[in-house]
Amino acid sequence: MTDTSLALYLHFPFCLQKCGYCSFVSYPARLDCLPDYVKCLRKEIKSRASGLYFHSLYFGGGTPSLLSPSQVADILAGIRTAAHLLPDAEITFEANPGTLALPYLPEIKSLGINRLSLGIQSFSGAELTMLGRLHNAAKARQAYKQARAAGFNNISLDLIYGLPDSSVSSFKKNLAEALALAPEHISLYGLTLEEDTPMYRQVQEGLLPEINAETAADQYQAAEDILAKAGYRHYEISNWAKPGYESRHNLTYWQNRPYLGLGAAGHSFLENWRLANTSSLDEYLNRWQNDLPPTPSENIYLDLENQLAETIILGLRLDKGITAEDIENRFGQHVMDKYFPVIQECTGLGLLEKSDGGISLTPRGRLLSNEVFWRFLP
Ligand code: SF4
Repeated sequence: MTDTSLALYLHFPFCLQKCGYCSFVSYPARLDCLPDYVKCLRKEIKSRASGLYFHSLYFGGGTPSLLSPSQVADILAGIRTAAHLLPDAEITFEANPGTLALPYLPEIKSLGINRLSLGIQSFSGAELTMLGRLHNAAKARQAYKQARAAGFNNISLDLIYGLPDSSVSSFKKNLAEALALAPEHISLYGLTLEEDTPMYRQVQEGLLPEINAETAADQYQAAEDILAKAGYRHYEISNWAKPGYESRHNLTYWQNRPYLGLGAAGHSFLENWRLANTSSLDEYLNRWQNDLPPTPSENIYLDLENQLAETIILGLRLDKGITAEDIENRFGQHVMDKYFPVIQECTGLGLLEKSDGGISLTPRGRLLSNEVFWRFLP
């Protein structure tokens, strides 16, 4: 990775249907716009990525696996023409098991995609139905096997814990199913329900039980034990990897390094500016079709104090935490001096520990990370 290289994220806000818990920017029933979207994305790549070097590329969504292989090829050609994708770049593609049919995976593999992230979420048919997912457990296993057969040797699986009606033993069963597939990387996300989601309304109407925070915490702790025994390193609050398979793209975010996010709702962090593209698909399309870059919907300059706070908060998500030396090299400030009272308080509460010239979250701190993070805000 060169010092000046960035991460590149491309957002594909298209889904076949909206999952019951989803609050991401994704539009069901707008697939007819996908060809135009690819054209607009190519314009944005040419306009905003020209001449830049990228150490990682991430196709996220939404459902990028709704792109045809020729559309994926078209986008990659746009990037390779305008910018520099480093030869060892990590290129991740999020795929929904419900959309995959042969020969899709071998085709995108042949284009240079070298990491696959499968949104499995659960291996229980009842849970998948509750979540409104397109696939069932058999389809999830089949997608995984197809990915291996296609030659993918870096596969990440997503699972959700804290589901209504779940228990520690039902979650352990899900985890055992995931481990039986032996992926290189596992992401575990606790279910949170935003107010505008169907599942939130179902809980409000008593059609689904409330999320039990205690059960969710027990499931998370069970996962920590099980995954450690299976040889996965818990390198970030929600992420576990076999040695050498940590997500290089996502590490860019947690290290608060620069990235460029393109497409509707793409977010960027460039030269200490946080920028967000419009999340309106129509505005994104209309503007680029007229060769007018949309106005950023967020445009915030982070002063030194905010850069420092964000770097500490994001860095604490990692198992290594932050070192005083790194912070001093980057900001010319000694973290232990500046935040001494906060660090002492969090250490006393058993949420932070001092290690190797730095600080990191304790296991309890990982469970209650927000209790730590807000204390570092300016
Ligand atoms: S597939 Fe992902 S982005 Fe699409 S609706 Fe479901 S959760 Fe949302």
